[in-house]
Amino acid sequence: MPTQARINSDRLAALLGGINGFGFDPGSGGYDRRAFSDADMAVRRWFMETMAADGLDVRMDSVGNVYGRVGPPGPAVVVGSHLDTVPAGGPLDGALGVAVALECVRAIREAGLALRRPIEVLATADEEGRFGGMLGSQSIAGAVPPGWLDAAVDAAGVPLTEAMRAVGLDPGLAGEAARDPADVHAFLELHIEQGPVLEAAGKDIGVATGISGCAVLAASLVGAANHSGTTPMDMRRDALVGLAEVVAAVPGIARDVGTDEARLTVGFVELTPNQPHTIPGRADFTVIVRDVDHGAMAMMIGALETLLAEASARHGLAFTSGTRSWLDPVALDPALQQSLLAAAGSLGFDPVSMPSGAGHDAQMMARLCPSALLFVPSEGGISHAPGEFTAWESIEKGAAVFLKALTRLAAE
Ligand SMILES: [Zn+2]
Repeated sequence: MPTQARINSDRLAALLGGINGFGFDPGSGGYDRRAFSDADMAVRRWFMETMAADGLDVRMDSVGNVYGRVGPPGPAVVVGSHLDTVPAGGPLDGALGVAVALECVRAIREAGLALRRPIEVLATADEEGRFGGMLGSQSIAGAVPPGWLDAAVDAAGVPLTEAMRAVGLDPGLAGEAARDPADVHAFLELHIEQGPVLEAAGKDIGVATGISGCAVLAASLVGAANHSGTTPMDMRRDALVGLAEVVAAVPGIARDVGTDEARLTVGFVELTPNQPHTIPGRADFTVIVRDVDHGAMAMMIGALETLLAEASARHGLAFTSGTRSWLDPVALDPALQQSLLAAAGSLGFDPVSMPSGAGHDAQMMARLCPSALLFVPSEGGISHAPGEFTAWESIEKGAAVFLKALTRLAAE
């Protein structure tokens, strides 16, 4: 006799603990499961063994994505997130979504519910972008740009193709990871918010309306390097003075040109020379441009280029700028959002709809199939750091909402 499926909190905690048995970094107190590292591949193998022990059909695809499938033939409801981390990452980013996905399958099966659609638990490869993209979900969606795989390198200059070969994956077969849209009914992901919005609002559940686009503007200001003592102040062409003017104006551009969700960040700056006694002749820097609106992203880039031209003219500098990469904003599926909101409501929670400022696998999966993203709060908005934390009670609520929505999609 089937009963109501329920999250087993201890079992979920044990599964999350099992994942975080890999890649602990005593130096930082966080986790290092960088894509295709020993720890990353070890956790993938362990997760496959764990799912196999549960009776799921497991496989690793040609780029390292791990799947566990259960249920009848037909288009699958895919659930999951990623197992890789940034260096010195936290215990929840990605890992929580993978653990909740498998716990939901366990709960549904334990309750004896018959699956109307198959469920596939998915742990994607290189979501954190060691090689600059979201290799796993991009490959599944067939959205890897031509030539990208062969050109991609990590921050240390290691080519992606070399890293793949080192773990036994053949880059020549990467295209085989692409799924046929006819085989995938939907994708659901649970993730920590990685921002402060839910905590500030006192809410446990967020449902993402969409995911901000992200563009990288790479720019240089070029003046003249010279002696800090002999060059009069009015005879300098100081690239850093020009840059300072640009950086100071960036928040105003976000406020005046972008939407309320606009985020502009100057996160990389390199001065040449970078010496105490020399006027910096050159400044290379990037501006990360994020917004939920494509047009607003383009207008902010236009405004930044105008600003660069004005600051250069005032300080006798030349400038170059170019958009180095561009990811469009993505709208998530309205019907799936509604079903997550309804599931939360039926459990007595008060969810909020909100955009996602950070990139997630769901944005790639949305190119393939209807996709949705559920958030639980991040204490202090902290993530990508060992201090990443979500109250267990909030995790339990998020998992219960996820289970309810998944049950409705696949088992009712
Ligand atoms: Zn993540």
